Amino acid sequence: MARRIVDVLVPVALDHPYSYAAGDLPVAAGDVVRVPLGRRECTGVVWGDTAAPDPRLDNRIKEIAAKLDVPPLNPELRRLVDWVAGYTLAPRGMVLRMALRMGEGLGPARERVGVRLAGPPPERMTPARARLLALLADGLVRAKGDAAREAGVSAGVVDGLIDEGTLATVVLPPDPIAGAPDPGFRPPALSDAQATAAAALREAVAAADFSALLVDGVTGSGKTEVYFEAVAEAVRRGRQSLILMPEIALTTQSLDRFAARFGVRPAEWHSEVSPRRRARTWQAVAEGKVPVVAGARSALFLPFRDLGLIVVDEEHDPAYKQEDGVRYHARDMAVVRASIAKIPIVLASATPSVETEVNARKGRYRRLPLPQRFGGQALPHVEAIDLSREGPPRGRWIAPRLAEAVKLAIERRQQALLFLNRRGYAPLTLCRGCGYRFACPQCDAWLVDHRFRRQLVCHHCGFSTGHPAACPNCEATDSFVACGPGVERLAEEVGTLFPQARVLVMSSDLLTDVDTLREELRSIEEGRVDIVIGTQLVAKGHHFPRLNLVGIVDADLGLANGDPRAAERTFQLLAQVAGRAGREEGQGVGLIQTHQPEHPVMRALIAGDREAFYASEIATRERTGYPPFGRLASVIVSAATRPAAEAYARKLAAAAPRDERVRLLGPAEAPVSLLRGRHRFRLLLKAPRGLDLSGYVRDWLAVAPKVTGDLAREIDIDPMSF
Ligand code: ADP
Ligand code: ZN
Repeated sequence: MARRIVDVLVPVALDHPYSYAAGDLPVAAGDVVRVPLGRRECTGVVWGDTAAPDPRLDNRIKEIAAKLDVPPLNPELRRLVDWVAGYTLAPRGMVLRMALRMGEGLGPARERVGVRLAGPPPERMTPARARLLALLADGLVRAKGDAAREAGVSAGVVDGLIDEGTLATVVLPPDPIAGAPDPGFRPPALSDAQATAAAALREAVAAADFSALLVDGVTGSGKTEVYFEAVAEAVRRGRQSLILMPEIALTTQSLDRFAARFGVRPAEWHSEVSPRRRARTWQAVAEGKVPVVAGARSALFLPFRDLGLIVVDEEHDPAYKQEDGVRYHARDMAVVRASIAKIPIVLASATPSVETEVNARKGRYRRLPLPQRFGGQALPHVEAIDLSREGPPRGRWIAPRLAEAVKLAIERRQQALLFLNRRGYAPLTLCRGCGYRFACPQCDAWLVDHRFRRQLVCHHCGFSTGHPAACPNCEATDSFVACGPGVERLAEEVGTLFPQARVLVMSSDLLTDVDTLREELRSIEEGRVDIVIGTQLVAKGHHFPRLNLVGIVDADLGLANGDPRAAERTFQLLAQVAGRAGREEGQGVGLIQTHQPEHPVMRALIAGDREAFYASEIATRERTGYPPFGRLASVIVSAATRPAAEAYARKLAAAAPRDERVRLLGPAEAPVSLLRGRHRFRLLLKAPRGLDLSGYVRDWLAVAPKVTGDLAREIDIDPMSF
């Protein structure tokens, strides 16, 4: 009898599955198996029977070592893997790796240790011990880690009291991955617009077929409450839901709201979840035991047993694009997954991406508008501060009118947010004596002064160095000048202007961990801060009840580069930031400092006229053939030396198949021409919308000269930034 040979895809940088003999194992497509690979063994997935096994290879084919006792990857997920690989041109094995995050040592869930009060107080009392004992005074059992966290003490403090007999340990069952959300737990009273939108979503879930819907609601309109009703409907029907969120690792606010609506938190999937817990979540999702997952973009590749709904919150957010490894856009691939699974997908945003806006205008996506804020709060009133006419004095960044508004807000016991999307103290440091500028030795970038950390830092590669005592060029001392502002410098100015105010600077580099961030967000919510100074970390999604004034310190910052998406990004970011103002009480105010008050982005923000912005932006994209009216792909070639990178980029360009519909631009130096010590050149392809650009690039690379030595090639279909 002929041996049965099957294709097994392994999670390594290979596009094609390997053939293995099934032996006595009754394996089927989708089964997760262990196979020998070179000298080691790895986990792979049976992709199907090998179509026509080469008989000459027969005696070289190895056997599958074992079949794992985990649910098979269903056809839907296997098709998604094939699709994403075919589209992004990433090796299929690398896409599979994202779907196979079940960890190697998946074992039974670990029991946890709980503690409770058991004996007399310790002889030596410390403030930390006192806090812990106060927490446990109610006699309840708490998991050890939870007790330490809630009391704000280290694990050592808990262990000390266990050793001294004040606390006793108790064995707790493993932490469940997710409870059962109750769709009837606390349904909100919806506004009319919310109710209409929610009904449409429920219908789409009930129809159990592919459809795309856009919950298009202004900031504070209650989009979350609306898509929760779609989730409730899926739960009622016993089907799983996936909610994608751009910044889920950073904030618990939306998870708390989920719990308030459904009685339990959803299962979480993001970088802050421990590997062990992720392995358990993966398995429970595959077994259909997890009704709702809230996750970052990678949750898209979870092996849902019966997915009935996908929600993409803040669908316009750039964080959905993965910029390394498999370069995919999670929102776009979520639409693909929904169409494969024949289920509805719900996109939510106050500032939809131009792609989504065009899809809604063309009727491909159904638009569900929420034109007003929930509870009737007015949208913020936005004004420009023209920096060329009423800017601050030299070396200062807060114009008198903005300073006045902040002062007023503090007097009224309201909060103000000063937004500046630039980390550190100053983006450039130079020597007054000789003009020397501090640049990164490995990148084509200036070093950013970070005074809180006392370092000069490269924002591209992380290189850092202490502040030198003297100029490396002319040896002058005390000759350094900081040019331009970052949030730290802004904090200095705020300190001089408002010495009494409680100021919080929020920027990703100042965060030691996620718990600190969550605590800082809470301190804003609870009104323990007067002025928040922040980067985009504070711009998104948060609901700060007492925040009424938003000052945008440099609105032109994102417009300067030649990126075709610069206007869209700036509009979205500024509208989102301004949208933090006045969400609960009083009239919110947004003040935008700009040199270009006549720019279409600024005019739309000031007039509160979103349509005007989309109309002008869509017209521009149509005229220039930029997405979504045309398609783009970029290929970046890098090498240790500039000539090597350039020579290969030229050869690559010369090998491009002729097709008058495809325009090849470049090679030219990439916008960051030196990154981590590697020289980079870029080729850009522009094609009409209907053209299969992935197919074109695949054919091109097949005939292109091989990448050898230290050359590297990065392909990005639908690049988001330039
Ligand atoms: P968006 O996401 O559209 O900016 P949110 O979903 O954050 O708006 O809602 C804004 C605020 O209004 C939140 O505090 C939310 O809890 C509240 N809210 C929205 N809809 C309702 C409702 N139907 N009942 C009670 N509160 C609501
Ligand atoms: Zn660098």
